[in-house]
Amino acid sequence: SLSKIIVVSTLSSGSLIAYSEANTNNGNRGRVAHADAVASKKKKVVVLGTGWAAMTFLKNLNNSIYEVEVVSPRNFFLFTPLLPSVTCGKVEARSIVEPIRNIIRKKNIDVSYREAECTKIDPANNKIYCRATANTNSKRREEFAIDYDYLIIAVGAQVNTFNTPGVEGNCHFLKEIDDAQKIRRNVIDAFEKASLPNLTEEERKKILHFVVVGGGPTGVEFAAELHDFVNEDVVKLYPMVQNFVKITVLEATDHILNMFDKRITKFAEHKFGRDNIEVKLGSMVTKVTENEICTKAKGSDKTTSMPYGMVLWSTGIGPRPIVKDFMKQIGQGNRRALATDEWLRVEGVGNVYALGDCATINQRKVMEDITEIFKKADADNSGTLTLKEFQDISNDICERYPQMQLYLKSKPVRNIFDRPSQVKGKASKESIELSIEEFKSALSEVDTQLKNLPATAQVANQQGAYLAKCFNRMEECEINPEGPTRIRGTGRHRFRPFRYRHLGQFAPLGGEQTAAQLPGDWVSIGHSSQWLWYSIYASKQVSWRTRALVVSDWIRRFIFGRDTSGI
Ligand code: FAD
Ligand code: MG
Repeated sequence: SLSKIIVVSTLSSGSLIAYSEANTNNGNRGRVAHADAVASKKKKVVVLGTGWAAMTFLKNLNNSIYEVEVVSPRNFFLFTPLLPSVTCGKVEARSIVEPIRNIIRKKNIDVSYREAECTKIDPANNKIYCRATANTNSKRREEFAIDYDYLIIAVGAQVNTFNTPGVEGNCHFLKEIDDAQKIRRNVIDAFEKASLPNLTEEERKKILHFVVVGGGPTGVEFAAELHDFVNEDVVKLYPMVQNFVKITVLEATDHILNMFDKRITKFAEHKFGRDNIEVKLGSMVTKVTENEICTKAKGSDKTTSMPYGMVLWSTGIGPRPIVKDFMKQIGQGNRRALATDEWLRVEGVGNVYALGDCATINQRKVMEDITEIFKKADADNSGTLTLKEFQDISNDICERYPQMQLYLKSKPVRNIFDRPSQVKGKASKESIELSIEEFKSALSEVDTQLKNLPATAQVANQQGAYLAKCFNRMEECEINPEGPTRIRGTGRHRFRPFRYRHLGQFAPLGGEQTAAQLPGDWVSIGHSSQWLWYSIYASKQVSWRTRALVVSDWIRRFIFGRDTSGI
């Protein structure tokens, strides 16, 4: 009898299963055939990133037909919402990171991790190219390629400087854990520097002038954090210099926190006014030099400049080079982010998915739908809808967009148009006339799906969980396409499209006060929402380990104050 060795190898995973066959009896043949089938059936999923989107995808994926390989330059997950708390020592850096290998270890499916950066995606050959980021102690840095059956792009975004001169070299960013630690060291350094002898008053003022560019949630939270730090700790530790501290927020538009409800914006602007945080609205930063920051007032050519000690740049995000390059390859040109369909598949590439900050769901399809609904309802072809026509189609809308039911069924239809930021359609109690533009914006007022989704952890998180669910059921749907699925389209995605559920938003404003905007226009500001903030952010931690660390940091800060050693 023959003795042979059959080697079953799964594509590029490097894991080999070897079977030594003593004789060719049926039992053994069966076993080999089975192993062969399992191995060849294993689908290789490559995940780029270890951030919010990638982490929830990994946590929720549980079908063992997949073999997963994670590639990311960062071997840990970072709980970004608490980054601003790290900048002034309220929370320690290591309390908000979770090693990715801790997460992988608990999976009962085949997952491996490579600490590397993906440098190129080759969709034609289902291959990615990577470069190891670990210090390999050799000049030649390790480069390698990985084949995939499915590629999941969750690389997030990078800080956008809008090519403003001097920003790259002179400003701080707040995106990664290193940034937060650097800011923290710099803040403490500034107070030590300003406390040295032989400085003029002007010099001390310059050193202690903290400028925040961008009045979004991150900038505002940092300003509030810094103000608390000055109020609670600096006054005790550096009493000689406390009067030289100045915090300035520069915002290009007319309001800070302008993605929030007007009540919150107003409250925040008033609170900052009381706290002596100067908010300069309508000021665009044009240049940052080593010593000065130059701004231009909105609607005028006049530029002013002011000396600063430290600048935090937090004005928004843009695509990473890897994503830009990929978009160019697949003909998506100069978009802000990778366009996907409602199932998170990158448009035009079958087996590549994108989610989180690097992706955006293409709204074209949705808008086509809405146009079609409108045309159908506009029976007299007048280009506008009457209230009657509008009521007639609400069922149709609810069917396609179930989340509209809340607005169209449980409340009077007119409620849509009674909302605070209502459209300018001609409306009275009995009749309404809406053009298609007004109709669309009225719907998008109530439906976040029709707008571009915000670049938040909340979106990334839900997308990761959604995609994992799709992957878990993909095989089942292929085998049994007529199964209990809701949407019967073509292709393997017989799943409901991704639907975002907005759970609300927080804006910590300092002094143990937080503004909370919850669904249904519910706004709460003050100490009670601060407690809600503490409990939600504790509950959202990815592990009991980080939860314990974060909570103990909070308690420690309440009792002993912030750690001002700067290490
Ligand atoms: P990320 O979480 O940024 O993850 C990207 C991952 O990709 C990282 O692991 C990165 O190392 C990796 N990567 C990068 N380049 C490559 C490459 N070439 N190859 C492979 N991997 C790569 N959102 C909220 O909802 N609530 C908040 O309170 C909130 N607060 C925030 C505070 C701050 C200071 C910041 C910066 C953001 C905050 N956000 C908040 C936004 C939230 O962090 C992002 O929306 C979220 O991180 C997006 O998730 P993501 O997975 O797309 O990207
Ligand atoms: Mg991610």
